[in-house]
Amino acid sequence: MTVTPPTSVVGTAGHVDHGKSTLVKALTGIDPDRLREEKEREMTIDLGFAWLTLPSGRRVSMIDVPGHERFIRNMLAGVGGFDAALLVIAADEGPMPQTREHLAILDLLEIRQGIVAITKRDLVEPDWLELVMNETIELLQGTTLEGAPLIPVSAITGEGLAELIQTLDTLLATLPPHPADGKPRLAVDRVFTIAGFGTVVTGTLRDGPLSVGQEIEILPAGKRGRIRGLQRHREKVEHASPGARTAVNISGIAVEEISRGDVLTIPGWLTPTQRIDARIRLLADAPAILEQDDEVMLFIGTSETLAQLTLLDAEKLTPGDTGWVQLRLRKPVVAVRGDRFILRRPSPSATLGGGVVVDAHPPRHRRFHPATIATLELLARGEPVELVRHALAEEPRDVATLTRQLTLHEHHVADALEVLQAQGEIIALVSPTPHTPTLYLQREALEAWRSRLVALLADYHQQYPLRRGMPKEAARSQLEIAPRAFDALVATFAGMGAIVDDGDVLRLPTHAIQLTPQQEAAAQRLLAALHETPYTPPSPSTLGVDPELVNALIELGYIVRVDEDIVFPTDVMQEIEQTVLTLIDANNGLTLAQFRDHFNTSRKYAQAVLEYLDRKRVTRRVGDVRVRYAQPQS
Ligand code: GDP
Repeated sequence: MTVTPPTSVVGTAGHVDHGKSTLVKALTGIDPDRLREEKEREMTIDLGFAWLTLPSGRRVSMIDVPGHERFIRNMLAGVGGFDAALLVIAADEGPMPQTREHLAILDLLEIRQGIVAITKRDLVEPDWLELVMNETIELLQGTTLEGAPLIPVSAITGEGLAELIQTLDTLLATLPPHPADGKPRLAVDRVFTIAGFGTVVTGTLRDGPLSVGQEIEILPAGKRGRIRGLQRHREKVEHASPGARTAVNISGIAVEEISRGDVLTIPGWLTPTQRIDARIRLLADAPAILEQDDEVMLFIGTSETLAQLTLLDAEKLTPGDTGWVQLRLRKPVVAVRGDRFILRRPSPSATLGGGVVVDAHPPRHRRFHPATIATLELLARGEPVELVRHALAEEPRDVATLTRQLTLHEHHVADALEVLQAQGEIIALVSPTPHTPTLYLQREALEAWRSRLVALLADYHQQYPLRRGMPKEAARSQLEIAPRAFDALVATFAGMGAIVDDGDVLRLPTHAIQLTPQQEAAAQRLLAALHETPYTPPSPSTLGVDPELVNALIELGYIVRVDEDIVFPTDVMQEIEQTVLTLIDANNGLTLAQFRDHFNTSRKYAQAVLEYLDRKRVTRRVGDVRVRYAQPQS
């Protein structure tokens, strides 16, 4: 087995013409500009724009970032898998506007590791250099790069380059390794084809590994394909671990079906979103304030979209402010809780601030709603146990749903459930069938559902004392809950003895149909009237009998309903059924007319009874005659 060396991603930042490309070339021996040209001619599937091996053996992908927008995208693509920034400031000019803006972006993205290269050392006197260095130290104050090492270098004389490489090696060695046990994500920054190989995408791989042969999905389109090949720093690899720029050769997806801004990941994990809850911060020198419904450009991953702001806890955000917002996106993006993003003013284009995704699939929120803010604060803390507890506060969910909604690893969800179940805070519901996944719910929520359902049934029994119970579907729609969750709740409450699951209806264990003395008397009168002309029974409605009482007598088994308004006493119907079978056996079948004549009834009753017996599968109709249902066709 080959041991793959640790990898890191380092991006340059700084004002134009301060020597970024020259420095990358001096460090790596690779001219990033030449590579860029090569890529435009689609001759190579190279990955980092440049790369080098540090003295310790660590491999570094260098991302050299010339243009501004491009810079943001590349920084974002790397964040998470991004290890350090190399801020470049020319000794002769010192910090310039773009230096400040890039630094602000690094700060917003919370990139905490960095080195400042003071380039063009050969052009200035030592006292000028000292001045620029002091100015730089001041500039870094209060940012994530405060206290970063400053190293004067010259690409012309080579001065300081060895020290820069050593410092980079030391810095990267102190960082914890990339978390690699997660699900892989690669924000696509380039897509192209290579003759004979097909579609290739490149980007920085984060969170989890990719392997040749693996099935992948391209989002937001949801196209599926398979990894045909992987490359890193121009070497073919079978497996790519997170934390380096990676080229992925894909089969099954055409180059036109993928574009920059897409995300490559494993199938069935992430769902694109057009609404994001976030904590944002405006730069102290942001060129504008933000108000309700303002439009901003959102840069997240390698994608960008217009977004409208809902300010959840402020009338407006002024420079330097932080606030809770909901972003309504013009087009879908892929986002995961914890992802960082940048907000820019659409025009004239300028960085306003940035933030972190707290919920990638939120519902719509009301503004200035304390419970919403409390929830967002909880989500921002992001402990799996807290998240799982919160997600189970209202509706029951299974492990797969929790994993997907919270974008946690499945084992984190499983661990959290174990802890919460041990503490008695979360209850596993009874599965209505052996193959439905177990649903979980907070104990209090379960109690709340139970009280609601019990109250609902008690109400129902009160309103319809003559009914056996409440139809299940009516109960479910009253509770406004999904069928799967409802079934699990019913199974759980039935198991607890709180309710009785009685086929198509639910009831309380204490409920039984009870007739009042008046209803009892009315029932006796009805039965007597029915028995008086047993084969032409009067209809209950013409007798003025309460339909509820009729239903109750059916439930109680005193009468049977054969048609809308035709009922028979149960004993009479049993006798008819027996006689019909006897007649069928004697005459080799029974016609409607024969039935009518035998019982001395009318066609209406004859037809209703025979159809009822057909439905009951006592008889079956063959042409004009009824035969026994089970009787083979002669
Ligand atoms: P970028 O726009 O930041 O990538 O800057 P470049 O790398 O293209 O460099 C801008 C100019 O500065 C080029 O003409 C370089 O030759 C020059 N330059 C870069 N580094 C040095 C240096 O260390 N010393 C001197 N004298 N010139 C440099």
